Amino acid sequence: MTALNLDQLQQDSLIQTLQQYQPVFWFPPENVPLKQALQHVGLTRADIEDAEARLQRFASFIAQVFPETQKQQGIIESDLVRITQMQQCLSEQWKIPLQGQWWLKKDSHLPISGSIKARGGIYEVLAHAETLALAAGLISLKDDYRKFDSDEFRAFFHNYQIAVGSTGNLGLSIGIMSAKLGFRVSVHMSADARQWKKDKLRALGVHVVEYASDYGVAVDQGRKAAESDPNCFFIDDENSTTLFLGYAVAGRRLKQQLAEKNIRVDVEHPLFVYLPCGVGGGPGGVSFGLKHAFGEHVHCIFAEPTHSPCMLLGVYTGLHDQISVNDIGLDNITAADGLAVGRPSGFVGRAMQGLIDAYYSVADPTLFQLIFKLNQMEQIQLEPSAAAGLRGPYYVATQPQYQQLHHFTPSQLDHATHIIWATGGGMVPQPEMQQYLFKECE
Ligand SMILES: *Cc1c(COP(=O)(O)O)cnc(C)c1O
Repeated sequence: MTALNLDQLQQDSLIQTLQQYQPVFWFPPENVPLKQALQHVGLTRADIEDAEARLQRFASFIAQVFPETQKQQGIIESDLVRITQMQQCLSEQWKIPLQGQWWLKKDSHLPISGSIKARGGIYEVLAHAETLALAAGLISLKDDYRKFDSDEFRAFFHNYQIAVGSTGNLGLSIGIMSAKLGFRVSVHMSADARQWKKDKLRALGVHVVEYASDYGVAVDQGRKAAESDPNCFFIDDENSTTLFLGYAVAGRRLKQQLAEKNIRVDVEHPLFVYLPCGVGGGPGGVSFGLKHAFGEHVHCIFAEPTHSPCMLLGVYTGLHDQISVNDIGLDNITAADGLAVGRPSGFVGRAMQGLIDAYYSVADPTLFQLIFKLNQMEQIQLEPSAAAGLRGPYYVATQPQYQQLHHFTPSQLDHATHIIWATGGGMVPQPEMQQYLFKECE
């Protein structure tokens, strides 16, 4: 799509719907051939395998310093659970048949930091630590990485600093892992960040800088602070391919998980994956991994709050990081703090637009209803951001134009697997979780 200018935007009916904070569903009108779309990303399957191998090298260290990962031998991975009750409940509530099998991918309960950021964020810290240790001759690729758990390594890393800007969960992941390795670390938190996340980081000795403004400002300030110190490494959530590859590792792991559960993914059994999107790195990276793992049989659908539909806006207009939701008059204020991002990643939208099958937005009250119901039906507790994916199957079921674009037959839709990527909530303190869960009853 060619870039629209702001005058044209005011006339556009989808933009007008966004401006009214109404939920929308949108998909690119043409399919880009898979091979071409994958090549356009500029990263390869080999890059994902390299990330997998790095996480494998660190597994012994992780298992040692984070005992909760021991039963998975230091591999940070989440469960996939069937949510049949929820599927039935929503089918009744929305008064539509919801076919196929629903599963919840519980990144919400990933070890160490309880969100999807335990993939990308932690991976980038490890990659940086490995680079420094290799360059200093402290380690070789064949060593047992439990060596990283030593006073010698911690003293070494104490000479280096890591900085990041975040709405909360990325800061939490990076802060926890950096502090464990011995780095000095600064987390620049946007106004959306919850108090408990800041408290937790400060208790670990992390330097938390608070801003009264949104995510974009926190990132800019973090970047600036890092530039003045050559020993400071800035983790760039808006552009980092390292973060992206950390997320992409999820693709092959999910393929294995589905195989273990005898769930087929092929022409007759399409897979739909619904991913909450903030700046785009998490859902973008996961989608890249999924497309490599499942090819054209997987459909990746991004979910954003009606107050912060930044990726939808960036891709739809072709303006990517040159437009923010504020430019069309939206306030970027949402209870879905993990998704409270006004301007999308410049890298993800451009690189991934041929691989993202559809986008939709969801209103905050719907998110609260969904977390309430999920708790009631399945006893699983999520933070508001993490529930955005639960609205996705509604659109696949009710949008004939989307079904026609992909030539879905009734039999294919009947045999489909729907994976709702639950991205956070596992570390939310109980009092705060109770407020989330029962907000819908107010
Ligand atoms: C960060 C986050 C996302 C989205 O990831 P992005 O890389 O910002 O797109 C989704 N859900 C939760 C809970 C998050 O913290």
